[in-house]
Amino acid sequence: MDGNTTPTTAPVLILLGPPGAGKGTQARMLEEQFGFVQLSTGDLLRAAVAAGTEAGKAAKAVMEAGDLVSDAIVIAILRDRLADADCAKGVILDGFPRTTVQAEALDTLLSETGQKINAAISLEVDDAAMVDRISGRFTCGTCGEGYHDSFKAPLTDGQCDKCNGTDFKRRADDNAETVGARLAAYHEQTAPLIAFYDAQGALARVDAMGAIDDIATQLSTLAANATR
Ligand code: AMP
Repeated sequence: MDGNTTPTTAPVLILLGPPGAGKGTQARMLEEQFGFVQLSTGDLLRAAVAAGTEAGKAAKAVMEAGDLVSDAIVIAILRDRLADADCAKGVILDGFPRTTVQAEALDTLLSETGQKINAAISLEVDDAAMVDRISGRFTCGTCGEGYHDSFKAPLTDGQCDKCNGTDFKRRADDNAETVGARLAAYHEQTAPLIAFYDAQGALARVDAMGAIDDIATQLSTLAANATR
């Protein structure tokens, strides 16, 4: 990390939760509201795959299988991104850390610049609902706004509400077969982080089964309290 570009006061929020819990949707709303930067390791890895980098080549098959990419690759990608100047506004980590090794590496990275985690917010959901949530989701290929076939269709069919784009994308790993592996990876490797952050006094829990806007209101209050 470049200590010259990241002041010690830059807030760090973590969104924890299984695939489909709404981390990406909520992170985007917090980004808009607070000006923090959403850092999604899934997005960074998908960009690496699309660009054909060495990390992307190593990650591609692992991601398609719904398994976790190696800690070394993900930590290196996150470390590089955190060093970018825009992260001085504060960051919302979406999908990182996902293992205890990553959580410890993050603590080390942040301590190098005197930063700390303001809050780790666990989005709590029922596994049973996640398959439907994930199988129906898609995003605008132009601005990244998220949609869902059943829960959040565009107001005008085929046109993005935010940017009027007409090019929509579905993720290759958002299918019923891969979701099972992704949920298993979450429970085995990521769920233990709830206790990890609880022990640090940084954990907040939010019931994320309700309406997107209600959850956003709760998160907004938590984020405001944690970063002031
Ligand atoms: P996501 O977009 O967060 O659902 O991530 C999509 C996929 O990218 C995951 O199923 C993993 O294969 C990989 N991935 C994303 N973030 C991480 C991470 N922090 N550690 C390991 N693998 C990750």
